[in-house]
Amino acid sequence: MEIKIIGGGLAGVEAAYQIAKRGYKAIIFEMRPHVPTPAHKTSMLSELVCSNSLKSNELKNAHGLLKEEMRILDSIIIKAADMNSIPGGKALVVDRERFSRYITDIIEKNPMIDVIRQEIKEIPSGPVIIATGPLTSSALTEKIIELTGRDNLFFYDAISPIIEGDSIDFNLAFFASRYKNESDDYLNCPLTVEEYDRFFSELIRAETVLPRDFEQDISYFEGCLPIEVMALRGKMTLLFGPMKPVGIIDKRTGKEPFAVVQLRREDAQGKMFNMVGFQTKLKYKEQERVFRLIPALKNAKFLRYGSIHRNTYIKSPELLNKSLQLKKNNQVFFAGQITGVEGYCESAAMGLLAGLSALCFVKGIRFIPPPPETCIGALLEYITTEKKEFQPMNINFGVLKDYNKRKKYKVIENALKSIKDWLEAIQL
Ligand SMILES: Cc1cc2nc3c(=O)[nH]c(=O)nc-3n(C[C@H](O)[C@H](O)[C@H](O)COP(=O)(O)OP(=O)(O)OC[C@H]3O[C@@H](n4cnc5c(N)ncnc54)[C@H](O)[C@@H]3O)c2cc1C
Repeated sequence: MEIKIIGGGLAGVEAAYQIAKRGYKAIIFEMRPHVPTPAHKTSMLSELVCSNSLKSNELKNAHGLLKEEMRILDSIIIKAADMNSIPGGKALVVDRERFSRYITDIIEKNPMIDVIRQEIKEIPSGPVIIATGPLTSSALTEKIIELTGRDNLFFYDAISPIIEGDSIDFNLAFFASRYKNESDDYLNCPLTVEEYDRFFSELIRAETVLPRDFEQDISYFEGCLPIEVMALRGKMTLLFGPMKPVGIIDKRTGKEPFAVVQLRREDAQGKMFNMVGFQTKLKYKEQERVFRLIPALKNAKFLRYGSIHRNTYIKSPELLNKSLQLKKNNQVFFAGQITGVEGYCESAAMGLLAGLSALCFVKGIRFIPPPPETCIGALLEYITTEKKEFQPMNINFGVLKDYNKRKKYKVIENALKSIKDWLEAIQL
Protein backbone atom coordinates (compact mmCIF):
# COMPACT_ATOMS: atom_id res chain seq x y z
CA MET A 1 0.00 0.00 0.00
CA GLU A 2 1.31 3.47 -0.84
CA ILE A 3 1.66 6.29 1.67
CA LYS A 4 0.64 9.75 0.51
CA ILE A 5 2.60 12.74 1.73
CA ILE A 6 1.34 16.29 1.33
CA GLY A 7 4.25 18.74 1.10
CA GLY A 8 7.70 18.26 -0.41
CA GLY A 9 9.58 20.33 2.15
CA LEU A 10 12.09 19.12 4.70
CA ALA A 11 9.68 16.89 6.61
CA GLY A 12 7.79 15.47 3.62
CA VAL A 13 10.96 14.48 1.78
CA GLU A 14 12.47 12.90 4.87
CA ALA A 15 9.30 10.84 5.44
CA ALA A 16 9.22 9.68 1.79
CA TYR A 17 12.90 8.72 1.83
CA GLN A 18 12.51 6.63 4.99
CA ILE A 19 9.48 4.83 3.56
CA ALA A 20 11.05 4.20 0.14
CA LYS A 21 14.37 2.91 1.47
CA ARG A 22 12.38 0.20 3.25
CA GLY A 23 10.78 -0.95 0.00
CA TYR A 24 7.42 0.82 0.29
CA LYS A 25 5.88 3.30 -2.11
CA ALA A 26 5.47 6.99 -1.23
CA ILE A 27 3.73 9.73 -3.20
CA ILE A 28 4.71 13.32 -2.49
CA PHE A 29 2.21 16.03 -3.46
CA GLU A 30 3.97 19.37 -3.76
CA MET A 31 2.06 22.45 -4.89
CA ARG A 32 5.08 24.45 -6.09
CA PRO A 33 5.67 25.73 -8.77
CA HIS A 34 1.94 25.93 -9.68
CA VAL A 35 0.98 27.46 -6.35
CA PRO A 36 3.71 29.47 -4.61
CA THR A 37 4.13 30.15 -0.89
CA PRO A 38 5.03 33.64 0.32
CA ALA A 39 8.56 32.50 1.27
CA HIS A 40 9.72 29.78 -1.17
CA LYS A 41 11.48 31.02 -4.32
CA THR A 42 12.13 27.86 -6.35
CA SER A 43 10.30 24.70 -7.37
CA MET A 44 12.88 22.47 -5.72
CA LEU A 45 12.05 20.07 -2.95
CA SER A 46 13.29 20.85 0.58
CA GLU A 47 14.02 24.48 -0.13
CA LEU A 48 15.54 26.39 2.78
CA VAL A 49 13.28 29.42 3.08
CA CYS A 50 15.63 31.63 5.04
CA SER A 51 19.06 31.03 6.58
CA ASN A 52 21.41 28.53 4.92
CA SER A 53 22.65 27.42 8.34
CA LEU A 54 21.30 24.28 9.97
CA LYS A 55 22.80 25.53 13.25
CA SER A 56 25.48 23.88 15.38
CA ASN A 57 27.19 20.70 14.26
CA GLU A 58 28.94 20.18 17.59
CA LEU A 59 27.98 17.15 19.65
CA LYS A 60 28.11 19.12 22.88
CA ASN A 61 25.30 21.31 21.54
CA ALA A 62 21.76 19.87 21.40
CA HIS A 63 21.45 20.94 17.73
CA GLY A 64 24.61 18.97 16.92
CA LEU A 65 23.45 15.95 18.90
CA LEU A 66 20.11 15.91 17.06
CA LYS A 67 22.02 15.91 13.75
CA GLU A 68 24.21 13.02 14.86
CA GLU A 69 21.14 11.01 15.88
CA MET A 70 19.64 11.75 12.47
CA ARG A 71 22.86 10.60 10.76
CA ILE A 72 22.52 7.30 12.62
CA LEU A 73 18.94 7.08 11.33
CA ASP A 74 20.18 7.78 7.77
CA SER A 75 18.41 11.12 7.36
CA ILE A 76 18.43 12.32 3.76
CA ILE A 77 18.26 15.94 4.92
CA ILE A 78 21.39 15.67 7.06
CA LYS A 79 23.17 13.61 4.38
CA ALA A 80 22.37 16.32 1.81
CA ALA A 81 23.62 18.99 4.21
CA ASP A 82 26.87 17.12 4.87
CA MET A 83 27.43 16.57 1.14
CA ASN A 84 26.77 20.22 0.28
CA SER A 85 28.25 22.01 3.25
CA ILE A 86 30.35 25.14 2.99
CA PRO A 87 32.64 26.59 5.67
CA GLY A 88 30.57 27.91 8.57
CA GLY A 89 32.64 27.46 11.73
CA LYS A 90 30.89 25.21 14.22
CA ALA A 91 27.61 25.32 12.32
CA LEU A 92 26.49 23.09 9.47
CA VAL A 93 26.11 25.66 6.71
CA VAL A 94 25.11 24.62 3.20
CA ASP A 95 25.12 25.91 -0.34
CA ARG A 96 21.33 26.26 -0.46
CA GLU A 97 21.00 25.76 -4.20
CA ARG A 98 23.17 22.60 -4.27
CA PHE A 99 21.47 21.27 -1.13
CA SER A 100 17.95 21.39 -2.56
CA ARG A 101 19.04 20.24 -6.02
CA TYR A 102 20.81 17.22 -4.53
CA ILE A 103 17.65 16.24 -2.64
CA THR A 104 15.34 16.89 -5.59
CA ASP A 105 17.49 14.67 -7.85
CA ILE A 106 17.64 11.80 -5.37
CA ILE A 107 13.90 11.90 -4.68
CA GLU A 108 12.78 12.33 -8.29
CA LYS A 109 15.01 9.45 -9.43
CA ASN A 110 13.83 7.09 -6.69
CA PRO A 111 11.56 4.45 -8.27
CA MET A 112 9.67 4.03 -5.00
CA ILE A 113 8.72 7.74 -4.83
CA ASP A 114 6.35 9.61 -7.13
CA VAL A 115 6.37 13.40 -6.99
CA ILE A 116 3.11 14.99 -8.13
CA ARG A 117 3.09 18.75 -8.50
CA GLN A 118 -0.37 19.60 -7.28
CA GLU A 119 -2.00 21.57 -4.50
CA ILE A 120 -3.99 19.27 -2.24
CA LYS A 121 -7.25 20.87 -1.16
CA GLU A 122 -8.96 17.85 0.39
CA ILE A 123 -7.35 15.39 2.76
CA PRO A 124 -7.04 12.18 0.73
CA SER A 125 -8.19 8.82 2.02
CA GLY A 126 -5.77 6.09 3.09
CA PRO A 127 -2.62 6.64 5.13
CA VAL A 128 -1.53 10.23 4.62
CA ILE A 129 1.17 12.40 6.17
CA ILE A 130 0.41 16.12 6.30
CA ALA A 131 3.77 17.93 6.06
CA THR A 132 2.72 21.24 4.59
CA GLY A 133 4.74 23.38 6.97
CA PRO A 134 4.31 26.85 8.44
CA LEU A 135 2.89 28.21 5.17
CA THR A 136 0.26 25.57 4.46
CA SER A 137 -2.06 26.70 1.64
CA SER A 138 -5.36 28.22 2.72
CA ALA A 139 -7.58 25.59 1.10
CA LEU A 140 -5.87 22.79 2.97
CA THR A 141 -5.76 24.84 6.16
CA GLU A 142 -9.57 24.97 6.06
CA LYS A 143 -9.70 21.17 5.75
CA ILE A 144 -7.30 20.75 8.65
CA ILE A 145 -9.55 23.01 10.73
CA GLU A 146 -12.55 20.82 9.81
CA LEU A 147 -10.60 17.82 11.00
CA THR A 148 -9.09 19.26 14.16
CA GLY A 149 -11.34 22.13 15.22
CA ARG A 150 -10.69 25.86 14.82
CA ASP A 151 -9.30 26.26 18.34
CA ASN A 152 -6.61 23.69 17.66
CA LEU A 153 -4.86 25.46 14.81
CA PHE A 154 -2.66 28.54 15.12
CA PHE A 155 -1.54 30.98 12.43
CA TYR A 156 1.17 32.88 14.26
CA ASP A 157 3.48 32.05 17.04
CA ALA A 158 4.13 34.64 19.68
CA ILE A 159 6.72 33.00 21.81
CA SER A 160 8.63 34.18 24.84
CA PRO A 161 12.25 33.31 25.51
CA ILE A 162 13.06 30.21 27.55
CA ILE A 163 15.90 30.45 30.05
CA GLU A 164 18.00 27.60 31.39
CA GLY A 165 17.12 27.10 35.06
CA ASP A 166 20.77 26.75 36.16
CA SER A 167 21.66 30.12 34.68
CA ILE A 168 19.19 32.08 36.84
CA ASP A 169 20.55 33.84 39.94
CA PHE A 170 18.52 32.31 42.76
CA ASN A 171 20.04 34.77 45.25
CA LEU A 172 17.91 37.39 43.53
CA ALA A 173 14.95 35.47 42.06
CA PHE A 174 12.32 34.12 44.44
CA PHE A 175 9.25 31.90 44.24
CA ALA A 176 5.98 33.61 45.20
CA SER A 177 2.50 34.01 43.84
CA ARG A 178 0.43 37.15 43.45
CA TYR A 179 -2.60 35.83 45.22
CA LYS A 180 -2.82 34.26 48.68
CA ASN A 181 -4.51 30.99 47.70
CA GLU A 182 -2.16 30.19 44.84
CA SER A 183 0.85 27.92 45.13
CA ASP A 184 4.22 29.59 44.58
CA ASP A 185 4.50 28.49 40.98
CA TYR A 186 6.15 31.58 39.59
CA LEU A 187 9.78 32.49 39.90
CA ASN A 188 10.00 36.26 40.27
CA CYS A 189 12.90 38.42 39.14
CA PRO A 190 12.69 41.77 40.95
CA LEU A 191 13.90 45.16 39.67
CA THR A 192 14.46 48.38 41.60
CA VAL A 193 13.37 51.69 40.10
CA GLU A 194 16.89 52.36 38.79
CA GLU A 195 17.17 48.87 37.30
CA TYR A 196 13.78 49.25 35.64
CA ASP A 197 14.77 52.65 34.18
CA ARG A 198 17.86 51.18 32.58
CA PHE A 199 16.00 48.11 31.29
CA PHE A 200 13.20 50.25 29.86
CA SER A 201 15.46 52.70 28.05
CA GLU A 202 17.46 49.87 26.43
CA LEU A 203 14.29 47.96 25.51
CA ILE A 204 12.67 50.79 23.59
CA ARG A 205 15.76 51.43 21.49
CA ALA A 206 16.77 47.80 20.89
CA GLU A 207 16.90 46.50 17.32
CA THR A 208 13.99 44.40 16.09
CA VAL A 209 13.65 41.91 13.24
CA LEU A 210 11.94 43.44 10.22
CA PRO A 211 8.68 41.74 9.23
CA ARG A 212 8.67 39.96 5.86
CA ASP A 213 6.31 41.20 3.13
CA PHE A 214 3.66 38.63 3.99
CA GLU A 215 3.89 39.46 7.68
CA GLN A 216 3.32 43.20 7.33
CA ASP A 217 -0.32 42.74 8.21
CA ILE A 218 0.26 40.88 11.48
CA SER A 219 -2.21 42.53 13.76
CA TYR A 220 -1.11 41.63 17.24
CA PHE A 221 -3.72 40.43 19.69
CA GLU A 222 -3.77 42.74 22.70
CA GLY A 223 -3.02 39.68 24.82
CA CYS A 224 0.27 38.98 23.07
CA LEU A 225 1.79 42.29 22.05
CA PRO A 226 5.56 42.22 21.70
CA ILE A 227 7.10 43.46 24.93
CA GLU A 228 8.93 46.27 23.09
CA VAL A 229 5.68 47.46 21.43
CA MET A 230 3.97 47.51 24.81
CA ALA A 231 6.87 49.52 26.25
CA LEU A 232 6.53 52.16 23.53
CA ARG A 233 3.04 52.96 24.82
CA GLY A 234 4.55 54.60 27.88
CA LYS A 235 7.09 54.09 30.61
CA MET A 236 4.57 52.74 33.11
CA THR A 237 2.72 50.40 30.73
CA LEU A 238 4.83 47.33 31.52
CA LEU A 239 4.24 47.90 35.24
CA PHE A 240 0.53 47.31 34.62
CA GLY A 241 1.26 44.37 32.32
CA PRO A 242 3.90 41.63 32.34
CA MET A 243 6.12 43.42 34.89
CA LYS A 244 3.34 44.13 37.38
CA PRO A 245 4.62 43.79 40.96
CA VAL A 246 1.22 43.93 42.70
CA GLY A 247 0.83 41.29 45.40
CA ILE A 248 4.29 39.82 44.98
CA ILE A 249 6.16 40.10 48.25
CA ASP A 250 9.86 39.39 48.39
CA LYS A 251 10.09 37.58 51.72
CA ARG A 252 13.68 38.71 52.10
CA THR A 253 12.69 42.40 52.17
CA GLY A 254 9.04 42.02 53.16
CA LYS A 255 8.18 44.43 50.31
CA GLU A 256 6.81 44.51 46.82
CA PRO A 257 9.61 45.19 44.33
CA PHE A 258 9.23 48.15 41.94
CA ALA A 259 8.86 45.77 38.98
CA VAL A 260 8.89 42.02 38.52
CA VAL A 261 9.53 39.65 35.64
CA GLN A 262 7.75 36.36 36.22
CA LEU A 263 9.17 33.07 35.02
CA ARG A 264 7.09 29.92 34.69
CA ARG A 265 8.48 26.40 34.74
CA GLU A 266 8.43 24.68 31.35
CA ASP A 267 9.17 21.28 32.85
CA ALA A 268 8.64 19.60 36.20
CA GLN A 269 12.31 19.65 37.16
CA GLY A 270 12.80 23.38 36.55
CA LYS A 271 15.45 22.98 33.86
CA MET A 272 13.64 25.51 31.67
CA PHE A 273 11.78 28.70 32.57
CA ASN A 274 9.54 30.71 30.25
CA MET A 275 9.58 34.54 30.57
CA VAL A 276 5.87 35.17 30.99
CA GLY A 277 4.47 37.77 28.59
CA PHE A 278 7.87 38.48 26.99
CA GLN A 279 6.98 37.60 23.39
CA THR A 280 9.21 39.78 21.26
CA LYS A 281 10.54 40.65 17.85
CA LEU A 282 13.92 41.83 19.18
CA LYS A 283 16.91 40.40 17.33
CA TYR A 284 18.40 37.40 19.17
CA LYS A 285 21.57 39.27 20.23
CA GLU A 286 19.41 42.15 21.48
CA GLN A 287 17.27 39.75 23.54
CA GLU A 288 20.43 38.58 25.26
CA ARG A 289 21.71 42.12 25.81
CA VAL A 290 18.47 43.68 27.04
CA PHE A 291 16.95 40.81 29.04
CA ARG A 292 20.25 40.27 30.85
CA LEU A 293 19.73 43.72 32.35
CA ILE A 294 17.16 42.02 34.61
CA PRO A 295 19.50 41.38 37.56
CA ALA A 296 18.45 37.76 38.27
CA LEU A 297 18.99 37.03 34.57
CA LYS A 298 22.39 38.67 34.19
CA ASN A 299 23.96 35.32 33.25
CA ALA A 300 20.85 33.93 31.56
CA LYS A 301 21.40 31.22 28.99
CA PHE A 302 18.73 31.33 26.32
CA LEU A 303 17.42 27.90 25.34
CA ARG A 304 14.87 29.42 22.99
CA TYR A 305 14.60 33.01 21.83
CA GLY A 306 11.34 34.90 21.68
CA SER A 307 9.73 35.48 18.29
CA ILE A 308 6.52 36.39 16.57
CA HIS A 309 5.99 35.15 13.07
CA ARG A 310 3.66 33.56 10.60
CA ASN A 311 3.43 29.88 11.46
CA THR A 312 0.64 27.40 10.89
CA TYR A 313 0.75 24.73 13.58
CA ILE A 314 -1.65 22.44 15.35
CA LYS A 315 -2.17 21.85 19.05
CA SER A 316 -0.32 18.55 18.91
CA PRO A 317 -0.53 17.64 22.61
CA GLU A 318 -4.31 17.45 22.26
CA LEU A 319 -4.54 16.08 18.75
CA LEU A 320 -1.70 13.63 18.21
CA ASN A 321 -0.59 10.42 19.86
CA LYS A 322 3.06 9.41 20.16
CA SER A 323 2.90 7.93 16.66
CA LEU A 324 2.21 11.43 15.25
CA GLN A 325 -1.21 10.13 14.29
CA LEU A 326 -4.45 12.01 14.80
CA LYS A 327 -6.08 10.54 17.90
CA LYS A 328 -9.46 10.63 16.19
CA ASN A 329 -8.39 9.36 12.75
CA ASN A 330 -5.48 6.95 12.73
CA GLN A 331 -5.02 7.22 8.94
CA VAL A 332 -3.82 10.82 9.25
CA PHE A 333 -0.27 11.61 10.39
CA PHE A 334 1.32 15.04 10.83
CA ALA A 335 5.00 15.88 10.32
CA GLY A 336 7.34 18.86 10.34
CA GLN A 337 6.89 22.39 11.59
CA ILE A 338 3.10 22.06 11.56
CA THR A 339 3.36 19.71 14.58
CA GLY A 340 4.80 22.54 16.70
CA VAL A 341 8.51 21.96 16.40
CA GLU A 342 10.62 24.89 15.26
CA GLY A 343 13.57 24.71 12.86
CA TYR A 344 14.88 22.94 9.78
CA CYS A 345 16.37 19.88 11.49
CA GLU A 346 13.55 19.59 14.01
CA SER A 347 11.02 19.60 11.14
CA ALA A 348 12.98 16.98 9.22
CA ALA A 349 13.27 14.90 12.41
CA MET A 350 9.48 14.84 12.79
CA GLY A 351 9.23 13.87 9.10
CA LEU A 352 11.56 10.97 9.74
CA LEU A 353 9.44 9.73 12.64
CA ALA A 354 6.15 10.22 10.81
CA GLY A 355 7.52 8.22 7.87
CA LEU A 356 8.53 5.32 10.11
CA SER A 357 5.31 5.51 12.07
CA ALA A 358 3.11 5.49 8.93
CA LEU A 359 5.12 2.53 7.69
CA CYS A 360 4.45 0.62 10.91
CA PHE A 361 0.76 1.42 10.46
CA VAL A 362 0.74 0.03 6.92
CA LYS A 363 2.64 -3.07 8.02
CA GLY A 364 0.29 -3.58 10.94
CA ILE A 365 3.00 -3.33 13.59
CA ARG A 366 3.12 -1.11 16.66
CA PHE A 367 5.30 2.00 16.40
CA ILE A 368 7.69 2.32 19.33
CA PRO A 369 8.57 5.99 19.90
CA PRO A 370 12.28 6.80 20.33
CA PRO A 371 13.30 7.16 23.99
CA PRO A 372 12.93 10.66 25.52
CA GLU A 373 16.60 10.71 26.52
CA THR A 374 17.41 11.17 22.83
CA CYS A 375 16.92 14.55 21.13
CA ILE A 376 14.49 13.19 18.57
CA GLY A 377 12.53 11.31 21.24
CA ALA A 378 12.49 14.37 23.50
CA LEU A 379 11.03 16.54 20.74
CA LEU A 380 8.31 13.97 20.10
CA GLU A 381 7.61 13.78 23.82
CA TYR A 382 7.43 17.58 24.04
CA ILE A 383 4.88 18.02 21.27
CA THR A 384 2.69 15.15 22.41
CA THR A 385 2.57 15.89 26.13
CA GLU A 386 -0.27 17.97 27.57
CA LYS A 387 0.77 21.44 28.76
CA LYS A 388 -0.93 24.63 29.89
CA GLU A 389 0.10 26.62 26.88
CA PHE A 390 1.54 24.96 23.78
CA GLN A 391 4.15 26.94 21.89
CA PRO A 392 6.57 25.76 19.20
CA MET A 393 9.88 24.39 20.46
CA ASN A 394 13.34 23.97 19.02
CA ILE A 395 15.75 21.33 20.27
CA ASN A 396 17.73 22.17 23.41
CA PHE A 397 19.09 20.07 26.24
CA GLY A 398 16.28 21.27 28.51
CA VAL A 399 13.74 19.07 26.71
CA LEU A 400 15.75 15.88 27.22
CA LYS A 401 14.51 13.55 29.93
CA ASP A 402 16.66 13.65 33.08
CA TYR A 403 19.15 16.06 31.53
CA ASN A 404 21.95 16.85 33.92
CA LYS A 405 24.25 19.68 32.88
CA ARG A 406 27.11 18.33 34.96
CA LYS A 407 26.96 14.99 33.21
CA LYS A 408 26.62 16.34 29.70
CA TYR A 409 29.05 13.88 28.12
CA LYS A 410 27.22 10.95 29.70
CA VAL A 411 23.91 12.36 28.37
CA ILE A 412 25.36 12.60 24.84
CA GLU A 413 26.82 9.09 24.99
CA ASN A 414 23.54 7.73 26.30
CA ALA A 415 21.48 9.49 23.61
CA LEU A 416 23.63 8.07 20.81
CA LYS A 417 23.55 4.57 22.26
CA SER A 418 19.79 4.78 22.84
CA ILE A 419 19.10 5.84 19.27
CA LYS A 420 21.15 2.94 17.90
CA ASP A 421 19.34 0.50 20.21
CA TRP A 422 15.99 1.98 19.18
CA LEU A 423 16.77 1.61 15.48
CA GLU A 424 17.55 -2.04 16.06
CA ALA A 425 14.45 -2.57 18.20
CA ILE A 426 11.95 -1.14 15.72
CA GLN A 427 13.07 -3.68 13.10
CA LEU A 428 12.01 -1.65 10.11
C1 LIG B 1 9.65 32.71 6.64
C2 LIG B 1 10.24 31.58 7.42
C3 LIG B 1 11.59 31.57 7.69
C4 LIG B 1 12.16 30.51 8.41
N1 LIG B 1 13.50 30.52 8.64
C5 LIG B 1 14.08 29.50 9.30
C6 LIG B 1 15.49 29.48 9.50
O1 LIG B 1 16.21 30.38 9.09
N2 LIG B 1 16.02 28.43 10.17
C7 LIG B 1 15.26 27.41 10.63
O2 LIG B 1 15.81 26.46 11.22
N3 LIG B 1 13.92 27.40 10.46
C8 LIG B 1 13.30 28.42 9.80
N4 LIG B 1 11.94 28.44 9.61
C9 LIG B 1 11.11 27.40 10.23
C10 LIG B 1 11.10 26.00 9.58
O3 LIG B 1 12.24 25.33 9.96
C11 LIG B 1 10.99 25.95 8.09
O4 LIG B 1 9.80 26.56 7.73
C12 LIG B 1 11.02 24.51 7.53
O5 LIG B 1 11.10 24.61 6.15
C13 LIG B 1 9.82 23.66 7.92
O6 LIG B 1 9.87 22.41 7.27
P1 LIG B 1 8.51 21.67 6.82
O7 LIG B 1 8.91 20.51 6.00
O8 LIG B 1 7.65 21.47 7.98
O9 LIG B 1 7.78 22.76 5.88
P2 LIG B 1 8.27 23.32 4.45
O10 LIG B 1 9.73 23.13 4.28
O11 LIG B 1 7.71 24.68 4.34
O12 LIG B 1 7.54 22.36 3.42
C14 LIG B 1 6.15 22.37 3.25
C15 LIG B 1 5.86 22.17 1.78
O13 LIG B 1 4.46 21.96 1.61
C16 LIG B 1 4.04 22.61 0.43
N5 LIG B 1 2.58 22.82 0.57
C17 LIG B 1 1.91 23.65 1.39
N6 LIG B 1 0.57 23.49 1.26
C18 LIG B 1 0.39 22.53 0.31
C19 LIG B 1 -0.76 21.90 -0.26
N7 LIG B 1 -1.99 22.23 0.10
N8 LIG B 1 -0.58 20.95 -1.21
C20 LIG B 1 0.68 20.59 -1.61
N9 LIG B 1 1.80 21.15 -1.10
C21 LIG B 1 1.67 22.09 -0.13
C22 LIG B 1 4.88 23.88 0.39
O14 LIG B 1 5.00 24.36 -0.92
C23 LIG B 1 6.23 23.37 0.93
O15 LIG B 1 7.10 22.96 -0.08
C24 LIG B 1 11.33 29.47 8.90
C25 LIG B 1 9.98 29.50 8.65
C26 LIG B 1 9.43 30.54 7.91
C27 LIG B 1 7.95 30.56 7.64
